[in-house]
Amino acid sequence: MLIVMKPDAAASDIQRVLEVIETLGFRGHAMPGENRTAIGVTGNSGSIDPAHFENMDGVAEAIRVTKPYKLISKDLRPERSAVKVGTATIGGKDLAIIAGPCAVESHEQLFSAAEVIAASGAKFFRGGAYKPRTSPYAFQGLGVEGLRMLAEVRDTYGLNIVTEAMDEHGVDAIERYGDCIQIGARNMQNFSLLKYAGKTRKPVLLKRGLSATLDELLLAAEYIMAEGNYDVILCERGIRTFGNHARNTLDLSVVPAVHRITHLPIIVDPSHGTGHNYMVTPLARAGVAVGADGLIIEVHPKPDEALCDGSQALTPIQYGELVAQVNELFTLIKQPSVIEATVS
Ligand code: PEP
Ligand code: MN
Repeated sequence: MLIVMKPDAAASDIQRVLEVIETLGFRGHAMPGENRTAIGVTGNSGSIDPAHFENMDGVAEAIRVTKPYKLISKDLRPERSAVKVGTATIGGKDLAIIAGPCAVESHEQLFSAAEVIAASGAKFFRGGAYKPRTSPYAFQGLGVEGLRMLAEVRDTYGLNIVTEAMDEHGVDAIERYGDCIQIGARNMQNFSLLKYAGKTRKPVLLKRGLSATLDELLLAAEYIMAEGNYDVILCERGIRTFGNHARNTLDLSVVPAVHRITHLPIIVDPSHGTGHNYMVTPLARAGVAVGADGLIIEVHPKPDEALCDGSQALTPIQYGELVAQVNELFTLIKQPSVIEATVS
């Protein structure tokens, strides 16, 4: 059920609708938009009679939702959402650039990367303290010690910290030290982790699963939002296909598809999407060209010495060139005539 309020509905009308939803044993999610507020109802196993709401003050209409998702949908919020991450936003009028090493390795490595990222004008810094590695013998990350270093980067450079949680303990630790909880591809359908992240008040960067469909990605976002955390950013990071020229196949067609269905922002990860240093910049440009709200890029001061994902890491110089190129492209793309022509 989706309850659309009239543009002039009072705050008390919205409150009253939320109370009735609660009395019925369900949960109401109020989403303010530019022109009106809509309220999504979750927690019902069957359909709800619209008559409960239709005659209430301030209600324009009560609509049964037939799609599998409710809260991510543009029916609930027709405008695109801008998600606040620390002191900046993702999905607003600026191209969001999140950059940094795959993993936090040492104080020296981290700060030398952070200096470059801050100088580039990016507002977000990445670096994993908990690493989901294929081999149990590979570097697993520095844990809380790494998170403390990331917090120091924020304090020194004013960069907002995006870092991965692999479990509930990681979510708690990032609530304390970070600004955005990354849920990695391998955990996209870890439903208990999604629910747990939905109970926090930190934004969540949700990466597409290794072989997830768009519906599966959107329903994973819905899990987080159904718990009351509406600050979700989607990320296309490539999926596994039969191709072996790249680590993954970066599925850029998902970007306009996402913008058609959901108000949530989507960013592109050309680092994991390709796995090769020489492919990262061209695919970053492509991501911006198809309308991504941002990019997440792996950068290492010395890629040859990286403990994780060195083959896809950009050098600081390559990264600086990438930023200059994508910013120029974004200025072109964000012109209203271009956006209207590409997204409907
Ligand atoms: C990462 O961002 O370093 C990472 C492990 O990404 P993914 O979950 O997309 O593989
Ligand atoms: Mn990585």
